[in-house]
Amino acid sequence: MSFVYGLKCRECGRQYAKQPTAGCEDCFAPLEVAYDYDAIKRAISRAAISSREKNLWRYKELLPLDGDPVVGRASGATPLLKTNRLAQALGVKNLYIKNDSVNAPTLSFKDRVTAVAINKALEFNLSAVGCASTGNLANSVAANAAMAGLPAYILIPFDLEPSKVIGTSVYGANVIAVRGNYDDVNRLTSQVADRHGWGFVNVNLRPFYGEGSKSVGYEIAEQLGWRAPAAIICPMAGGSLISKIHQGLKEFEQLGLLDNEVTTRIYGAQAAGCNPIVDAVKRSSRQIKPVKPNTIARSLAIGNPADGYHAAGVIAESQGWAEDVTDAEIVDGIKLLAETEGIFTETAGGVTVAVTKKLIAQGRLDAEELMVIVITGNGLKTAEAVQLAPPIIIEPHINQFEQAIKGFAATSSL
Ligand SMILES: *Cc1c(COP(=O)(O)O)cnc(C)c1O
Ligand SMILES: [Zn+2]
Repeated sequence: MSFVYGLKCRECGRQYAKQPTAGCEDCFAPLEVAYDYDAIKRAISRAAISSREKNLWRYKELLPLDGDPVVGRASGATPLLKTNRLAQALGVKNLYIKNDSVNAPTLSFKDRVTAVAINKALEFNLSAVGCASTGNLANSVAANAAMAGLPAYILIPFDLEPSKVIGTSVYGANVIAVRGNYDDVNRLTSQVADRHGWGFVNVNLRPFYGEGSKSVGYEIAEQLGWRAPAAIICPMAGGSLISKIHQGLKEFEQLGLLDNEVTTRIYGAQAAGCNPIVDAVKRSSRQIKPVKPNTIARSLAIGNPADGYHAAGVIAESQGWAEDVTDAEIVDGIKLLAETEGIFTETAGGVTVAVTKKLIAQGRLDAEELMVIVITGNGLKTAEAVQLAPPIIIEPHINQFEQAIKGFAATSSL
């Protein structure tokens, strides 16, 4: 049972059939899934959602599958945590973390988009799947392809973090490391998709893929007791996630599922070494000027973001803002979250925490209002980004232990 009409161009409105398609043939803009919201409104309710399993399929009316999911049944339903010590450190009162660093099966929010895309590949009877990836998508496509029994062709930049490469190869995926940056990888992947007709999740399955990210917005609202927060701070690479979180909230509002109006201000976070969307927002423009990425935040290192135009629009219309932070600030952000809330996030999470700190200092976020930081990935995948002092080594004698602990000052970076 599906409520999907077909696909529709986001800019010119041209309609397309429900099939693998990369973008609009007329204006090259991204395509979106078009739903019959009147029918969804009759089918969906808070009670129906609440009665279902805790995963992203509890919002199935708003996701584009025709049948039941085969893979990705453990994805979604990550914790929303009210912070205590982080809020205190940043001088605010109502700061929540949406913690997708513990998403399943591969510890990032990409498990949501992949869950939708790989199930669509099965529904379309495609013979193989693949992606162009900055790391986390590679992990997630490889794992879900293994579960689906489909061969996977994963294209990555050649100099990706070792943990992200191992965390892809282990699933038996065909990994191709391309000498170039993500934007080079992406260009090559589009050519491969045209030629072979396989399902590339962020190329010809992209309209379906993006829908998985809406579940972050749905979950935040449900976990807040069917309310939209005042502000959301979200990292940006291609700019899809941030746009889809906002769309998810607006859909819930339209369907009458929320107690309040969606006046949520959307804030985007990028690294200073790859900030094309932040740059557009600061120029009060939606036109992206592509950059050459140079940052430790590899998962966000997309110099020519496919949904950048749209993301900049969502940020501006919601009266939010966008900021960037240096690599040193990113590492401080990772440590701050770890030392205050016990959450080890990857570089993208360091970006988001550090940008939140900056926005608070700028007075753009109010100390009393309800804000949600979206933490999108796990720190164990980018462990080399944080340079920490090695442990003190001692002989197994009690007096050496007593000697050693005298050297422990309060080393917290707070
Ligand atoms: C992919 C990714 C993002 C950004 O996603 P977009 O939808 O491309 O903007 C953010 N955080 C992490 C950890 C990611 O892997
Ligand atoms: Zn179009």
